[in-house]
Amino acid sequence: MTAPPRFIGSEIYRGSSYGPLHPLRVPRVSTVMDLSRALGWLPRAQYLTSPRAKPASLAAWHDPTYLAVLQRAEREGRVTDAERARHGLGTASNPIYPEVYRRPATAAGGSIMAAGLLKDGGVIYNPGGGTHHGLPDRANGFCYLNDPCLAILAFRRLGLRRIAYVDIDAHHCDGVAHGFADDPDVLILSTHEERRWPFTGAIDERGAGNMWNLPLPRAAHDGDMAAVRDGLILPVVQRFRPEALILQCGADAVSEDPLSRLAMSNNAHWSVVAALCALTPRLLVLGGGGYNPWSVGRLWTGVWATLRGIDIPARLPVAAQSVLRALEFNGNRLGRNPPEHWFTTLRDPPRDGPVSDAVRDRLGVLSDRMRVWA
Ligand SMILES: [Zn+2]
Repeated sequence: MTAPPRFIGSEIYRGSSYGPLHPLRVPRVSTVMDLSRALGWLPRAQYLTSPRAKPASLAAWHDPTYLAVLQRAEREGRVTDAERARHGLGTASNPIYPEVYRRPATAAGGSIMAAGLLKDGGVIYNPGGGTHHGLPDRANGFCYLNDPCLAILAFRRLGLRRIAYVDIDAHHCDGVAHGFADDPDVLILSTHEERRWPFTGAIDERGAGNMWNLPLPRAAHDGDMAAVRDGLILPVVQRFRPEALILQCGADAVSEDPLSRLAMSNNAHWSVVAALCALTPRLLVLGGGGYNPWSVGRLWTGVWATLRGIDIPARLPVAAQSVLRALEFNGNRLGRNPPEHWFTTLRDPPRDGPVSDAVRDRLGVLSDRMRVWA
């Protein structure tokens, strides 16, 4: 990998909210951009402004009728009852908000552009991407489009065949599985909390033999994730020998996230990012879930440091602390008395511990399967 890692961002994420009561009312990508710049980690030469994908480009995976309804929903600020029922738009989880077409189309445009830029190899980070629940003709789970699926297809257009998609978000990637479960040349590997929405991704869902699901028990921590990294993620990816790898690095599996009951620290995510860098000539890292503004901003900025090989300082300089001190988390108890280290550090204290029986047993099942896997 010769070219330095590149970061794809956009100002469209700044100030954009799904509404005052929605988990996606908090800033996320703008925090990562501000923190990275305050730390001197985002020189102009490594920053790319995300283009907005055009409907014709989105139609590589999405239904043109749905795209037209989504565009009109943004213009008119509403959908009909029939459209709500048909396309999942204008619901509590997928509301109509002012940038309801432009924002997801920008995230998708970034992921499609990234795949093209990775033709000759390299690393690209698009933290606005990772919308892994989107369906071809339907909004789903806070996602309106599915940029990982569009990136897989963009890699295919370069002539690449074997694409790996690894997803460490707290939720199962049902949209990506919908798209590529039947394609033996797309590896789909997901870790996610068991018995949590969307309730797909059971350990025995195998697709065309290309899907690997490891449901994690409640309170799974860094020790569990290290065992999953070394016992499943790395060996499966190594055996698959992908020509390109997409990592969805959702930030909702950490202890302080309000939407999951997992108990990792951000060290768990960074160690997966670092380990995967060495296993593929082309790496596209995406965001995903993450609903605590401090934990998602700190985790995803640390992902960028990891991709760039930058040592994360034990204590943040004042300019970076100011970015974190300016965040608010209205309507959540975690916003009332945030601990000081959410302002002064990126790295959480590690949350290690012995591997749980459930994780050990499930890794055993999948190791048996791996032995007979082509
Ligand atoms: Zn999630």
